[in-house]
Amino acid sequence: MVKAIVVCCENIRDRICMGCARCFKALSLKAGKFAEFDEVEIVAWTSCGGCPGLVVPRLNNLNLVLKQIGVEYDVVFIASCIAKAVKTGYCRIDLEKLVKDVEKETGKQVVIGTKPPEI
Ligand code: SF4
Ligand code: SF4
Repeated sequence: MVKAIVVCCENIRDRICMGCARCFKALSLKAGKFAEFDEVEIVAWTSCGGCPGLVVPRLNNLNLVLKQIGVEYDVVFIASCIAKAVKTGYCRIDLEKLVKDVEKETGKQVVIGTKPPEI
């Protein structure tokens, strides 16, 4: 079982993708990228903070909070909405660079994607 945090697109979360219900369903079905792990427990769910996507500074702040409350995690999921925003929505985030930056800052495994397209 891994503990994970999810980072999503601020512009899509709860606006187009209402309530993040799709990723919660994928999580409960162990579908999409969640299928790569035996079991995933989400310990925090945050966003890029809005364009231009300050993911690393936000993760640094989140890490401070998690440390304060004694919560640890193993994996960072860059949610499917961010990948979609990059592919179809003119988002300027460089996903390859983001993965490297997040790995470097957090020392954790980074996965691009969460729910599969059919959910
Ligand atoms: S892809 Fe997942 S994390 Fe992103 S907005 Fe939709 S449900 Fe939320
Ligand atoms: S930077 Fe990209 S992922 Fe973040 S809100 Fe803007 S479009 Fe969405």
